[in-house]
Amino acid sequence: MNKKVLVTGGAGYIGSHVVRQLGELGYDVVVYDNCSTGSANAVLYGKLIIGDLADIDKLYQVFAKHQFSAVLHFGASLIVPESVALPLDYYANNTRNTLNLLRCCSAMGVNQFIFSSTAAVYGELQQNPVSESAPTIPINPYGRSKLMSEWLIQDYALSSSMTYVILRYFNVAGADPKGRIGQISPNATHLIKVACDVARGEKKELQIFGTDFPTPDGTGIRDYVHVEDLAAAHLDALRYIDMGGESQIFNCGYGQGYSVRQVIERVKAISGVDFPVVEMERRPGDPAIVTACANKIRQVLGWQPKYNHLDTIIFTTLAWDKQRQNSQLPVNGKLTRLYSLVS
Ligand code: UDP
Repeated sequence: MNKKVLVTGGAGYIGSHVVRQLGELGYDVVVYDNCSTGSANAVLYGKLIIGDLADIDKLYQVFAKHQFSAVLHFGASLIVPESVALPLDYYANNTRNTLNLLRCCSAMGVNQFIFSSTAAVYGELQQNPVSESAPTIPINPYGRSKLMSEWLIQDYALSSSMTYVILRYFNVAGADPKGRIGQISPNATHLIKVACDVARGEKKELQIFGTDFPTPDGTGIRDYVHVEDLAAAHLDALRYIDMGGESQIFNCGYGQGYSVRQVIERVKAISGVDFPVVEMERRPGDPAIVTACANKIRQVLGWQPKYNHLDTIIFTTLAWDKQRQNSQLPVNGKLTRLYSLVS
């Protein structure tokens, strides 16, 4: 019988890529999502149950009906400035709802748990690239809500037979290289998505948040990871737990940083559009540099990224957005060539 897994937030950007990969490998997938930012159309495999993680009664019913061997937990709020404005919502949706999920795992004896965490748990980095053993001193409610979730998972695992893998994501971007799914949030705030929206004329200008960071060009530096590689790390984690691996925390990034100005330069070059850029004040809660030391995940899980190039991330984002805009495959020669390149 195929392994049955629960994917919370499986209609969202990252979750839907993981669901697709799970489905392709023959997993029996149940998605639990409130579709607040995700979309039913993004769930290409399995069964979608529309529900909120805050609704613990409904969650119990789902666990009681299905015998899950593992839970992959993506459902969360993830925008740093929004977390500064709405901290209580972030602690409720991220931390309290992780507790709800663990209660269900405990009641139903589900003992494999994969958690979508974030580099935001490190806060201002003392070392770059940062390793998993670095101090965790998050500087915004988003990071704190995720770190508290990590603690819940770790403490519960110590008291039970549950094994976990916590994946600390760096800056996720890109889209399915075959153009089936990608990021759909109309209010996306993340740099590569916004820059691609501006290049396509969806937004009028790109704002650079802070030009006085202690970095070579004054703008923030991040480690951008392709969503397809990130999704594959979850499948690697599931296999690792299945084979008896111990609970672990892994960074999931490439170990290569790009500044905001470098990203803008590549989006302009690839799209062929010299869009307007405006320099603004720093955003609250933004650290200067965040890059991953990603040796551990490669060594322990055998993770092998296939799309670790900034241009590929930007190409797939532009191609996906253009495809959605036209509701057909892109006709632009450059983007069409991209599909044959990466698929
Ligand atoms: N950023 C920017 N303009 C934007 C969006 C982001 O200058 O419209 C900067 C942001 O200040 C940070 C980097 O781009 O230095 C990555 O931000 P993003 O929101 O993509 O991810 P985060 O690192 O905050 O999770």
